[in-house]
Amino acid sequence: LPAQPIDGKSIASAIRDRTRRRADALTQRGRHPCLAAILIGDDPGSSMYAESQRKAAGTLGIAYRLEQLPAATPTAQARAAIAKLNADPTVHGILLFQPVPAGIDAAALQDAIAREKDVEGVGAANLGSLMLGRPALSPCTAAAAMACIESTGVDLSGRSAVVVGRSAIVGRPVGALLLAQHATVTTCHSRTRDVPGVCGQAEILIVAVGRPGLIGADHIRAGAIVIDVGTHRVPGPDGQPRTVGDVRTDEAARRAAWITPVPGGVGPVTVAMLWSNVVTAADQSA
Ligand code: NAP
Repeated sequence: LPAQPIDGKSIASAIRDRTRRRADALTQRGRHPCLAAILIGDDPGSSMYAESQRKAAGTLGIAYRLEQLPAATPTAQARAAIAKLNADPTVHGILLFQPVPAGIDAAALQDAIAREKDVEGVGAANLGSLMLGRPALSPCTAAAAMACIESTGVDLSGRSAVVVGRSAIVGRPVGALLLAQHATVTTCHSRTRDVPGVCGQAEILIVAVGRPGLIGADHIRAGAIVIDVGTHRVPGPDGQPRTVGDVRTDEAARRAAWITPVPGGVGPVTVAMLWSNVVTAADQSA
């Protein structure tokens, strides 16, 4: 039987519903959750994304502040703007739009965001807490991959999980979150020998390699849960662009028990996780 699809859109919708209810409850208690987004320069993609974030925040009962800084802002000045938001008790989450203009140290700015307001979960302090198994705001994509697994109802304790990819924002934090659920975790990367053989052992396979269609049926253990984090725009057979993942879904679905489609899998859940993190940050603020 082909794998059951993991419906990221409905998981995301349930997360948004819960987020809206939590935001309303906090607002009634006098704490209106607020995300401040920092946009340095005038990258058109980021400006469009900021506009759609403003709309999404509105539908969830979350306040949204866009802080725009000129492209020529020195890193020290951008850091000072972040320090101001860190100290502002009406701001609960801070997000830095990437890419930042050349010459600005994005990692330094990300690390300048207070740990408790780092709603993307990508600063060193948050990632460190996650690795130590301490409470942390999880990076949105890693948390989304976990929510997709959780939706299958499978208990991870003692299961073999393989993560393909060791990036700081996806592969490594997913590994830490799987370990926290008592899975036995193996990480593959570009130097791993026999990636298909290692993946073929996995009861849970999470793929975040950034290579369209790298993973096929020969990588999948029969009955596995397959989570495809990859997202790429590639030309389709008709020449029109289409979105695909790192997994060749059709053939992988013939061996897996559960699989995330692309699009409509991890992607929408990632977006919902940001707002969930904003409300969590507001809830935990002093
Ligand atoms: P990344 O930083 O480029 O990391 C890719 C990882 O894959 C690296 O660890 C690399 O190994 C490993 N790798 C590359 N080729 C490999 C191969 N042939 N065999 C085994 N491992 C290999 O990518 P990322 O930021 O984690 O993103 C991964 C994918 O997820 C991308 O397609 C990205 O667009 C997508 N993404 C999706 C979302 C979402 O919300 N759905 C969010 C973020 C990212 P080395 O470390 O050895 O180089």
